[in-house]
This record gives sequence, C-alpha cells and structure tokens, in this order.
Amino acid sequence: MKILKSTEDVQNLMIKTLNEGKSIGFVPTMGALHLGHISLVQAARKENDLVVVSIFVNPTQFNNPEDLKKYPRTEEADLEKLKMAKVDAVFVPSVEVMYPEGEKSQSFDFKGLENQMEGAFRPGHFDGVGTVVKRLFELTMPTRAYFGEKDFQQLRIIQEMVKIEQMEVEIVPVEIMREEDGLAMSSRNMRLTQAKRQEAPVIYELLQKAKAYYQSHTAQETIHWVKKEFEKTALELEYFELADETTLLPSRRKSKNKKVRAFVAAYADEIRLIDNLAFY
Ligand code: AMP
Repeated sequence: MKILKSTEDVQNLMIKTLNEGKSIGFVPTMGALHLGHISLVQAARKENDLVVVSIFVNPTQFNNPEDLKKYPRTEEADLEKLKMAKVDAVFVPSVEVMYPEGEKSQSFDFKGLENQMEGAFRPGHFDGVGTVVKRLFELTMPTRAYFGEKDFQQLRIIQEMVKIEQMEVEIVPVEIMREEDGLAMSSRNMRLTQAKRQEAPVIYELLQKAKAYYQSHTAQETIHWVKKEFEKTALELEYFELADETTLLPSRRKSKNKKVRAFVAAYADEIRLIDNLAFY
C-alpha cells in the first residue's frame, strides 16, 4: 500500500493509472476509521482497478474549533485497516498541501441545498466540504467516488458540486452502517461516555418509530411526537426534519411520488450525532 503525501505523489500515480486505461475509485475520509468507512472501501474495491483513500481532517468544514481540536486521530490503526481492506494507496496530505494559499473556503451556490439542516446549524460547513472535496477530486482524478448516506445532505451537495464544476466523476452512495444496537457508526462515537453510548441508539429507535407513526399521521404531528419523545431521553435534540430527499426542502404534505427522508441531529453531552432514515 502506497502512502502519498505530496501533490506530485498523487498526481504521478493517478496519471500513470489513467494512462494504463485503469479506473480509479476514491474514498475521502477524515480518519478514525470504522466499518462504515470500510464498507465504502469495499464498494470501491469491487468496481475499480485502483482504490485510493484520503485521510484529512479538514479544518474549513469545522464551525466549532473545539470539535476540530477533539476530532479523533488514529493514523496508525487507520493505515492497518486500509491495508487489510486491500487499498492500493492512501493520501495523507498536510494542511499546507491541501491549502497552499491558506485555510480558506470557496463560496458555493448549491441551489439552497446548503441552507437546510446541517447547513443551517453549521454555518460555512458545506463551503468547507465543497472546497476540500473539489481539491481532492482535482488531485486524485477519480473515475468514481464513494460517499456514505450517513451524511446524506453532504452526499446531495457533492452530487450538485460535480454538476456545477462539470467534473467527470461518478458519485456512488453507500448505505449507512450501524452498530448491532442500531447506532450509526461514526468516528465521534468513540468520544461518548459509557452512559451516553448506551443511550445513543435511541436516535435510530425513534427514527424507526417515527416512520411507523408517519404512516397514520401528518408530517407536523410526527415532528411534534418525535420532539416530545426526545425530551424523555438523555440526548438533546438539535433538529428533527422531514425533507424531500432530492431538494432537501422541508416536506409537510404527503404525496405519492415524493421521497421523504427523516433527518436528525442530537447532542450527547457536547458530542453531536446525526442520522437519517428513508420514510418510503
Ligand atoms: P468522515 O470520515 O466522517 O468524513 O466520513 C467519510 C465518509 O464515510 C463519508 O462519505 C461518510 O458519509 C462515510 N461514513 C461515515 N460513517 C458511515 C457509516 N456509518 N456508514 C456509511 N458511511 C459512513
């Protein structure tokens, strides 16, 4: 497994691979890898000749400096997991390599996708995500890039970004990987106290119950019910939203062909957890 650090390292390998007529599968991550990340790698491994994973904790997508500081970093274990998953190359750039002109985000117009949910509660977050993913795509020149539905809004934003920037890369969505008790796998889970870790599966439980409730209730009633249920838990709900999964706009009226998805963000102490579930 090759470790790539500079822009030259990456570009040389990518150009060589593409010149040989081979496909490149790319999985961007921020490290602290778990089986959710590995499921993306496995999808990439199945469909491409060369698999490249990046590990980069992107400062411009953190609106909360404390969250950036405390973001788990486990590089040695990450590299071991990637080797086991038969990854060909890992790109581990420094901040200077990713931001040669300083840590600054490009400002994007994602046609409103960026103003909902995560975007509303994390100002600047998606400009940071767009900026880093665009740079990573330019360097790694992927045929296909893999994104988890765990960050569903991010996935939609990246699909929009490649259209806006006219980038020739296929964006491949990958289903959410969960712990046995239903908690969506996340690098942040390792920061939970034992008590909060035990409580955290309630997020997925309430998503599932809300889906059942929604069958015989309106969107407003469902949202109201979920908020009340969250008050009984040890988590603090930031938002619960029912949205059209294409536009990400709030969905309040049912209609046959609309694909509604529920989105949630909740705090366990200062640790912010997100999850989502298709309601169709
Ligand atoms: P992160 O390292 O958190 O930036 O995540 C890197 C990629 O892994 C993103 O595309 C995430 O959506 C995806 N990912 C993170 N957790 C999961 C999960 N539990 N299941 C599937 N994909 C995930």
